[in-house]
Amino acid sequence: MPQNFNLEQDLYNNYENFREKTLTHRRFNHSDILPLIEQLKNSKDFTVNKVGSSVEGRDLFLISIGQGEKKVFLWSQMHGDEPTATAALFDIFNFFSDSSFSDFKKHILSKVTLYFLPMVNPDGAEKFERRNFFDIDINRDAERLQTQEAVILKEVFDSLKADFGFNLHDQDPRHSVGNSFKSAAISFLAPAFNYEKDVDTVREKSILLIGRLTKMLNQFIPGHIAKYSDDYEPRAFGDNFQKWGTSTILVESGGWNNDPEKQFLRKLNFLLLISAFKEIADGGYKNETADTYDKIPFNDKYIFDLLLRNLTLNHNGNKLRIDVAVNFIEFVSKTDKTIYKRSFIQDLGDLSVFYGFQDFDFSGYEIQRGKVFTEKKINLEDIQTIDLYDYYSKGFTVLTSGDSIDGRFTDFPINISFRESNDSTNFLRIGAPADFVLLKNCKIEYVLINGFLQKVQNDREFLGNGIIYK
Ligand SMILES: [Zn+2]
Repeated sequence: MPQNFNLEQDLYNNYENFREKTLTHRRFNHSDILPLIEQLKNSKDFTVNKVGSSVEGRDLFLISIGQGEKKVFLWSQMHGDEPTATAALFDIFNFFSDSSFSDFKKHILSKVTLYFLPMVNPDGAEKFERRNFFDIDINRDAERLQTQEAVILKEVFDSLKADFGFNLHDQDPRHSVGNSFKSAAISFLAPAFNYEKDVDTVREKSILLIGRLTKMLNQFIPGHIAKYSDDYEPRAFGDNFQKWGTSTILVESGGWNNDPEKQFLRKLNFLLLISAFKEIADGGYKNETADTYDKIPFNDKYIFDLLLRNLTLNHNGNKLRIDVAVNFIEFVSKTDKTIYKRSFIQDLGDLSVFYGFQDFDFSGYEIQRGKVFTEKKINLEDIQTIDLYDYYSKGFTVLTSGDSIDGRFTDFPINISFRESNDSTNFLRIGAPADFVLLKNCKIEYVLINGFLQKVQNDREFLGNGIIYK
């Protein structure tokens, strides 16, 4: 069995030529992909058909290319806030529109025909939410078919009876590969079609192809590939499509350090899907064994966004050794769409079995609550000019202001309070924001402003945001 992945190496190295440049982050919506679909309508290679519309009237399109006998059906973003693969599909359209790799493309398009249904849930995408207009999870509607987006997906599925199906999703970036200290960048699943998790010839093809794709991806992201839970879900599309005869592969884009917009994971989607087309065209996956799939570790949850290890907590003279785990949740400003983050203390205690995307050993450091500066109220416009070094070095993580301000977050590298009194009883409590100071030899060396670690020195760079307490 050939083990070289030269084609994939070429694709990996040349990806920039195909990346759809108008899609740069996760929060694009239907109006951003419409002009791209319009362009495809003018292409002689692609066929574009409107197959219906969402509850709020956004059109869904089936885009196809190829003349081959084997049919491959790919659908993305039935969960509105899971866009990574949608962006990758537009990269793939660019790949097929480009003049490079022409022999390869000619070959596979003579063997397979590809059908794409991007952004199944445009109404959810508009709000960057999982569910559709009715707050129904389309992926629990495969049997009952009450949402019109699910009806469209099922109708397209029935019209194609494809050989292979790709069910394209995103999962929480904080998934790990088993209990390893590696993030699950890509998680696969050959969905079960019954509670017994039997393997028939349809599911076996998914299993073999995933095994092959896992070997391929391991060249690029060794150890970062996991398996999604294989429990049977009778209401989900993947499980039913597998049951109804299409070899179905679930792809979940998870997490990669320093890739909050998942642009590297998007590239991996591009890579693995084109590699899959090759495998399906040539049948190379048939040489694989189920063993490779069986050995892929399952998704697990051993990652935090931030982990501070081995801190000392001094409580009335008793010293505790404590690890602190912090996660962030994103909020989007309604006015200018800026993304802000809110920190939450997620866990405390012995967290030695976990790890963090940001991971620090603070042995020898003491953790104390950040203080609220109440001596005087600071004008907001002055915050831009004052040097916060003084405040940090004295242990302040919150300033008070008398000005009124909209919103819940500030770009300033400090939290701001409009409260008359500030009780900070929720220091180091689960769910509380990560506002505290770290001392070494009784000197404050670091502050955490809403979970953003700042060294107490004059030349700082602040990439986070503070919280406004009202
Ligand atoms: Zn999903």
